[in-house]
Amino acid sequence: MSDVLDFSYDALPVRVVFRPGAAVSATPGEVERLGRRRVLVVCGTRGSDTARAVADALGPACVGVHDRARMHVPVEVADVAVQAARAAGADGCVAVGGGSSIGLGKAIALRTGLPLIAVPSTYSGSEMTPVWGLTEHGAKRTGRDPKVLPRSVVYDPELTLSLPVPLSVTSGINALAHAVEALYAPDTSPLVALMAEEGVRAMARALPAVAEDPTSSAARARALYGAWLCGSCLGATTMGLHHKLCHVLGGSFGLPHAETHTVVLPYVLAHNAPTAPDAAAAVARALDAADAPTALWQLAGRLGAPRSLAELGLAEADLAAAAAQTAGSAYANPRPVTADGVLAVLRAAYEGAAPAPDAR
Ligand code: NAD
Repeated sequence: MSDVLDFSYDALPVRVVFRPGAAVSATPGEVERLGRRRVLVVCGTRGSDTARAVADALGPACVGVHDRARMHVPVEVADVAVQAARAAGADGCVAVGGGSSIGLGKAIALRTGLPLIAVPSTYSGSEMTPVWGLTEHGAKRTGRDPKVLPRSVVYDPELTLSLPVPLSVTSGINALAHAVEALYAPDTSPLVALMAEEGVRAMARALPAVAEDPTSSAARARALYGAWLCGSCLGATTMGLHHKLCHVLGGSFGLPHAETHTVVLPYVLAHNAPTAPDAAAAVARALDAADAPTALWQLAGRLGAPRSLAELGLAEADLAAAAAQTAGSAYANPRPVTADGVLAVLRAAYEGAAPAPDAR
């Protein structure tokens, strides 16, 4: 960080409860604190057992379980959920699950103004942000609105015990990406930098332990702690090229969210590192490594994560279109974004070799 301190920082009004078993033991209390009596629980089909356990714990304060969440929140899925909330006369919403379920809860909050409580079951970090996303006509739109920021987040490491190792790894690296981009964001600040470095450290140490023993409550808790910090960084700052690129690849080319983040991150950091040396140094410190992009690439490989966009199903013929779309709109990034620069990053990520020094 530079010697001249010059920053602004908005503390976001989210209450966080972090405790094993909290999904069932703490969610009813959080609903009551907000004075809600008729909440709708939203989830995906795969997470509906946990969501039903939360709904049971809520008893008469729950007016239904809506289990239709889908990746990237298609607008028609959001429409149906908003109708379900209105038809049930809901006065609040509890989203149980990964970023897709929380995203659907945010879509309801955006359209209805209902307060949202998030009970995350992955490490995506969405629960700590006022960022919403909706996919329509093959393109993902995102925006910020204080209405969608969960009023309360219930972190229960036990919920993540069922998250398969491959999903745990990619979801965890998705969280790392938030911290990495927060370190070079135009609105970063000393507090964000502390959270980001500690978030990277905690997650990078936890993921190998989760992979080695997915039933370890201690490893799961460390990973969720990392997710909280990384998600807080995402909520506090403006993301750059990495997130834009992943949105394009997910929204317009149908690539899976967390896996795409996992593949792309080392190459974007390699691309941005010359213009963001302090950020790259902080990531390297947290990873206890000499070179941050290489260490991120090695971490993903060691944990068996996908390492190339080709593996994720992107067609080589789509690289130029993805690069043009990514470079076609303005957003903050430490290194000026050009179609050629993005194409070089995409080509390297498509091939999946170690991030080359000449990419920098
Ligand atoms: P996800 O919510 O789609 O979950 C991935 C898969 O894991 C799903 O099949 C789900 O059913 C399953 N799953 C979730 N928790 C599980 C558990 N504990 N055990 C077993 N299976 C489980 O994926 P995600 O990576 O959490 O979230 C991705 C979405 O979130 C994307 O749409 C992304 O854009 C969004 N997101 C938004 C923000 C934001 O701030 N708005 C931040 C991060 C991610």
